[in-house]
Amino acid sequence: MDARDRHACAACALRFRGETLREAYARVCAPIATREDGTRERACAFCLGILQIAVHDDTPSTSSSRAADVDDEETAHADRRVLDITSTREFVWRARARGHAPASFKLDVILPAAVHTRERAARARPRDGESGRDATPIDVVLRALVCPALARALGCEEDAENATYALTAKYKYRDDDKETRFLAGVPLKLTAREREERNKHRASARKHWQRDKGSKRKRGGGGAEDAFFAHLSSPEDPFEDEFAAAKRAYDDAGNRLAQMDDEAFLDVVNEPPAPEFPARCVLEAFHQPAHVGGWYVKLDRGVPQSRWISRESGERIGRGSVVESIESVILERMRSRGAKFNSSGREDMDVRMLSDGRPFALQVHDPKRSRVDAEDVAAMEREINARYETTGVRVRGLCLTSKACYHAVGQASDEREKEKSYVAVVRLSRPATREDHEKIASTSCLVIQQATPTRVVHRRSDMVRPRTIVSMSSEEIPGSPDSVLLRLRTQAGTYVKEFVHGDGGRTTPSLGTLLDCRANIIQLDVTAINDDWNPSEASTAEKD
Ligand SMILES: [Zn+2]
Repeated sequence: MDARDRHACAACALRFRGETLREAYARVCAPIATREDGTRERACAFCLGILQIAVHDDTPSTSSSRAADVDDEETAHADRRVLDITSTREFVWRARARGHAPASFKLDVILPAAVHTRERAARARPRDGESGRDATPIDVVLRALVCPALARALGCEEDAENATYALTAKYKYRDDDKETRFLAGVPLKLTAREREERNKHRASARKHWQRDKGSKRKRGGGGAEDAFFAHLSSPEDPFEDEFAAAKRAYDDAGNRLAQMDDEAFLDVVNEPPAPEFPARCVLEAFHQPAHVGGWYVKLDRGVPQSRWISRESGERIGRGSVVESIESVILERMRSRGAKFNSSGREDMDVRMLSDGRPFALQVHDPKRSRVDAEDVAAMEREINARYETTGVRVRGLCLTSKACYHAVGQASDEREKEKSYVAVVRLSRPATREDHEKIASTSCLVIQQATPTRVVHRRSDMVRPRTIVSMSSEEIPGSPDSVLLRLRTQAGTYVKEFVHGDGGRTTPSLGTLLDCRANIIQLDVTAINDDWNPSEASTAEKD
């Protein structure tokens, strides 16, 4: 009896013999045949048609003319979500349509759970010449057939271990549930580690939905991001939920089948028939986020940190924003449609951020161009800074960094590292005296009680927090006897404006109560953010 008798395609017949040579498969693989009456033959009972594809090794490399080899068929292909794949070319078309230029790539293959059941049936009753045990897996064969053409089309090498760009082929099979339902009664045996992984995944999914239900960001971030990612699970990895669920279903079927002995299995499943419909494929390309970090300096007042739209009028408040000034350059250069911005706190729109600037990092989503080096990043920094006359924003120390470093912005663990320094112009209700300056200079480690400021209490919970004014000093302002130039160093999270004017008694003590007069803040600048965060310290190994 021959493997053909069991509705196996030529590739599957080779797989069951343990064949591993790509050439052997490339020679025999062919699309599902069409009968004389125009209908198609049934697909292979084991790969469900997945390996019934034409193998084309003539894919032109990226260097050859592009326009010439994009034909109508390829153009039509780009809009389809679910594909009936008949040729290795379709993988190349999808990769090209998504437009990534990655440094390396991998092809992930997620098979329908029914494939496990069908393969088990073949293994349980090996035919002549079949090993019964060491069939070459479908995904291994598919990768071997497709990857050389992908490498030429993308202009980079396959790197199954470390590539941050993946083309994922998720195969769907219509009768998957029907054919694997009997496995529901077989217990799932998970190792402690696998169980932990699942709980973690469940917890993060729960958190994701809770966060979504709750507050939206007050000052809406990137508009392009919102529009593009609205229908996807997460901009960090939009296909994660969809692909992870399919992968789990496949793994679980394998796990449960491993609990059944051949006798019990064959009692349920006999020789699998050819499927009524072949498996179809969802093929997506996605690049893991890239991370860029540095420090920003804001030299003009009237620029909010992020895009700020008035809830009442729907109109923009302020002049541009720090985030947009930085994002616009980086997203364009890395050909990305969205990013998340993380910084060590934020200053008010009317407050400047001077000196060394504020630490920030940008998570660049699905960068189409990810092959950037130090020189490219330096060019981005120059371009952002060249626009400073218009934006009021400069950056320094811009560099590629790691995901860990992105999340660590503003998370300094040592309290002293979180101190911030300010310089303010303060006007008193009377001329400033020598005693005022002495009083200011002698104040150190002053603990104040701050209720949530009136101006933000509508969006933050109202509570009293103790904060420390670490030190202060002051100078006269020539020609302005009732004003002082106040320098302060405070614990992070101190509302400096409220410390100066007291916020109607909600902050005590305040500069006003210390000097026994009314005090008003005219101007405020941040001069230093004490933070030993350094984006360039991310080791090359952990860059992702
Ligand atoms: Zn097959």
